[in-house]
Amino acid sequence: MTTALPLRDSYGRVLRDLRVSVTDRCNFRCLYCLPETEEAANFYRTRAPLRPAQSPPSESVILREWKPRHELLTFEEIERAVRLFATLGIQKLRLTGGEPLLRNDLPNLVRRLAPIPGISDLALTSNGFLFPRLGRPLREAGLQRISFSLDSLDREQFRKMTGRDGLPSVLTSLDLAAQLGFAPLKVNAVVIRGLNDQEIPRLAEFARERRLSLRFIEFMPLDSGRAWLRELVVPGREILERLREHHTLTPVTPTNPSETARRWTFPDGRGEIGIIAPVSEPFCGHCNRIRLTADGQIRTCLFSLHEHDLRARLRGGESDEDILRWIREITLGKEERHHIGEAEFEQPQRSMSCIGG
Ligand code: SF4
Repeated sequence: MTTALPLRDSYGRVLRDLRVSVTDRCNFRCLYCLPETEEAANFYRTRAPLRPAQSPPSESVILREWKPRHELLTFEEIERAVRLFATLGIQKLRLTGGEPLLRNDLPNLVRRLAPIPGISDLALTSNGFLFPRLGRPLREAGLQRISFSLDSLDREQFRKMTGRDGLPSVLTSLDLAAQLGFAPLKVNAVVIRGLNDQEIPRLAEFARERRLSLRFIEFMPLDSGRAWLRELVVPGREILERLREHHTLTPVTPTNPSETARRWTFPDGRGEIGIIAPVSEPFCGHCNRIRLTADGQIRTCLFSLHEHDLRARLRGGESDEDILRWIREITLGKEERHHIGEAEFEQPQRSMSCIGG
């Protein structure tokens, strides 16, 4: 049962898309998210002069501390939260992490969330490493869509970028997901100058061959090492130019104004390319997203500097009506946009692996 009034912020944007992080744990150490490997340290050390306040990640941060179990929302709490958001008109639900497949018994959570009235789209973002084992149970539990990360098709480069020799597993996961009928099969590639940008044409050709929906994503300042630098960002328009050197691309008319990707197809209709350019071409004007972290904090923007403690209200015996009213109030305070590249930009305390993209 959805309430009459949609969930709207003070800029008139209607929120329809909830992203729920189910764990902060990850089995990868992607250089643009958890830059905690020696490769990451070397990359940032060689690519950018040491900023006075910062040094590349040192040994000590590798022993990352994950959030204790009692701080994470239980499946019951996540289900209740999603039901509440669904009554406020949220229709699209994406499960994220860290790496969501590391959350124990995840198919059971999917089974709880899939039938919630109002949720018409249940998707998940994964690095694909564990999907060979969990893909079928997740599909049978009701998962509708899956997106995998794939930043390189070169095994050694993949290992450098993710801290894990995981390319074979990800390719196996793509095959399994296709067999399980996940379509369109989405793949995300974060592009970093001097690291994998030379692979743009190859990744695009791979998407065309495998009929994948590939998104090239600009590198965002949300990594745990605060190593992000503007000069490492390959702007969306440059990615497009480099693609056009190899492919004739036809623009796709957006079906939903809140889409984050601009999309193109190939002449033979196989596969699709998208570019998500939050740094160089922000799309905040049509943002319809809100996020819930694994430890129960609502973030009204990916770059929020403030969070709202839903967990305390869920555990504090607050009524559904009171929580619904509170969610409406905090949504009115949703940020207009991010301020990347501006003097006042401040990177949030919480890094991408604890937000979930
Ligand atoms: S930066 Fe914030 S406002 Fe902009 S699109 Fe992302 S979540 Fe929305």
